[in-house]
Order: sequence, then C-alpha cells, then structure tokens
Amino acid sequence: MIAHTPTLFACVALVATIMAFCLILVGQFNRHDGLLTIGCGLLAHAVAYVGYTFYGHAPLWFTYGAANTLLSVALAFYGASLFRIVELRVPWWRVFAPMLLMLVSMVTLIDTLEPRMLAASIMLMVQCSLIIYWTLRYIPKQGRARMLLIIGSSISLIGLGMRVVAIIGGGAAEMRYDVSNLKQTISVSIGTFTAMMISLGLVLLSKERSESLLQRLALRDVLTGILNRRAILEQFSKELERARRDSSFLAVAMVDIDHFKQINDVHGHLAGDEVICHCVNHLTRRLRQSDSIGRYGGEEFLLLLPGTSPEGAVAVLDDVRASLVGAPAKFGETRIELRISIGVCCVVPDERDTTASLLARADAALYEAKAMGRNTLCLAPADLQQNDTRIGDTSETLSG
Ligand code: GH3
Ligand code: MG
Ligand code: MG
Repeated sequence: MIAHTPTLFACVALVATIMAFCLILVGQFNRHDGLLTIGCGLLAHAVAYVGYTFYGHAPLWFTYGAANTLLSVALAFYGASLFRIVELRVPWWRVFAPMLLMLVSMVTLIDTLEPRMLAASIMLMVQCSLIIYWTLRYIPKQGRARMLLIIGSSISLIGLGMRVVAIIGGGAAEMRYDVSNLKQTISVSIGTFTAMMISLGLVLLSKERSESLLQRLALRDVLTGILNRRAILEQFSKELERARRDSSFLAVAMVDIDHFKQINDVHGHLAGDEVICHCVNHLTRRLRQSDSIGRYGGEEFLLLLPGTSPEGAVAVLDDVRASLVGAPAKFGETRIELRISIGVCCVVPDERDTTASLLARADAALYEAKAMGRNTLCLAPADLQQNDTRIGDTSETLSG
C-alpha cells in the first residue's frame, strides 16, 4: 500500500504534537523525572515533520534544512532525557554536537540533492547509534524501557540505512519528501516508529526509575541505609527456606547496643544516631557478602549468617563484639565508647522452625546476655531445654 507522503508526515506531526504537549504539561511539575526534556524532544520532532509536510510548497531552508536540524534537536533531547532520568550529568556538548554538525551541513549543502540527503541521513544515524550506545551503557539490564529504546533506535537506523542505500544507488529523486512511493511509505512509517518507541521508552524508563527509588525507600532504613525491619524479615524467610532445603546451618543473631539510652542522655540524640551508624558500619565491614543485616528496632539489629556453624557464628560475632570495644564512635571532637550484647541462635532448620521461633530464641539469648552484665554473646541451646552457652567479657562496664 502506498500512502500519500505529505499526509503521512502531517499525521506524525499531529501525534507528536499531542504527545509533546501532554509531556510538557505534566513535566513542568517535576523537572527531575526527564518528562519535560522528552516533551521538548517530541515538540522538535513534531515541528520537523510539519516542515517535511510542506516540502515543495515552502522554502527549502525551512522544509529541509530547518526540518532536519529540528529532527536532530529532537534526538539530542531524547539523549539528554536518558541521562536526566538515570540521574547522570548530561554531557550537553556530546549530546548536541551532532545537531550542530547537521546545522552546518544543511547550511552548506542545501542547494545540492544527493549530498544534503546523505549528510542528513548519516547524521541522524550517528545520533540513533549514540542513543543505542548510551542505553546499553547506562540503563540497567532488567528494565523493559531498555528494550523499547534499543528496538526504536534500531528500527530508525534500518530506515535511515534504507534511505542511504537508495540515495547511493541513484534513487535520490525517489526519496524526496513530496514523492509518494512504497519506499517512502516504509521509510516514513519507520520514522513514526522511532518517535513513538523512543519517547515511550523514555517515559517508561522514568517510571521504572521512580519505582526502583520508591522500592529502595520502602526497604531501607533511613538513618543507616541497611535493610529495614520489613526487608530483613523478608530476607529471613528466604534464608530459612533455603537452609531448610539445603539442610545447612543458619545463624540468626540479635545485636543490641548496651545502655544506649545513657548515650542519648549524655551526648544527645544526634550523637546517638552517629553511634548507631558507627555500630552498623562496624558490623557490616566484618560480615561476608552472603550475610544480611537489618535494623530490627531502635538500637537493635538482626543478622543472618547462612551456612555458618554455631562455632563459626560465635567466633565471628564475638570477634566483632570485642573489636567494637576498642573502636569508639566519633561525634565532632567527642569519642563515644560503645558496647554491644549479642544473642545467637544457630540451627539446621526443620519443619518446626519458623522465623518467629528462631527470633524468639535469639531474643531470649540476648536477654540472657544482658542479664549476664552486657558486652557479652550468648548462644541459644540447640535444644531449648538445655542451658545457654555464654561467651564474652562481662567484667567491663560502659564508659561514655
Ligand atoms: P540496654 O543495655 O538494656 O539495651 O539499655 P538501653 O538503654 O540500650 O535500651 P533502652 O531500650 O532502654 O533504650 C533504647 C533507646 O534508644 C531508647 C530510644 O529513645 C533510643 N532510640 C531508639 N531509636 C533511636 C534512634 O534512631 N536514634 C537515637 N538517637 N535514639 C534512638
Ligand atoms: Mg540497648
Ligand atoms: Mg534495645
């Protein structure tokens, strides 16, 4: 089917205009999500197609020179949006350099036919290739937006490639914007795909980005950045299931800062916050990649050490406890000493073990550690009827 080329151009211009106004309208309320830049790109895209629509009926500098430069501006804006959305600094120079080259080549070659057509197509191909390169480099693999951007830009590359081949093959006259034939219909339809897929890909990228930020906010503790209570309990369920399936050890530790209320009372709540962060950093540095740590409550942390035997868990955690004694937190010029108590429960879980039952056992061991005088580690017995095993130095007292 052969479509009337100027009518096709006008349709693309209309759709791009509507999309541009929608995005500019909503994009102005949040300048950081990239919607405004995508809208600007679509507006340039729309005006470029208005120019193509009037090819042969208006001056060439507008219908060809300005139109192709505007299409180049549109692709530059799409590139800039990509950086904006993933919160990277926009390399404005690299993004807009091809558009400047397009402007120069349009000014110098406007009176020719093949050279100006070749220059315009090649410059747009460079810009589409750049969008593909930036997408592959800066957009996370798991997103769906990545796929749309790559497909949209690749289709555009194919369409432009077809134009280049036709021009080199001596068919430049067939590819003029006022000629209607099958090649033109395919080529212009491909251009439509580009506008739709790239802009939709960018909007989707913006949505995926804000979703992942929200997810991060929902799962992370604001003060320390480690998993919050909900997230560490979710992780606990997964680790328990895995240990049960593999019949492997899972060590669960409850860590509590000793006499933390005193630290708050003596040094103030901001210092208290600093002590919590210091404790988390100290714990995190000594855990393995496969271990997890989460903030269970105010100054209580839940640690999960998969594949760790009771002896291994006691050795590593008691070492952390002891090393913290010699590593005070700093708040301004003040050094604040801190001690922790730890309750550990370590099992190869069976069907009777649940997160709640293991937590209760680790908590009971922590209670024991506190009762023993603090700055201590207690290992919950494998069998609840047995006595706790107590390790650690209970002779030291907290010095603020
Ligand atoms: P123990 O040795 O028995 O654990 O005594 P403690 O003083 O550490 O425990 P307690 O439960 O009496 O006090 C904990 C305090 O932690 C009370 C609460 O105000 C404070 N707290 C909870 N969350 C935060 C926080 O995010 N920042 C600060 N600075 N303080 C907090
Ligand atoms: Mg405490
Ligand atoms: Mg506590």
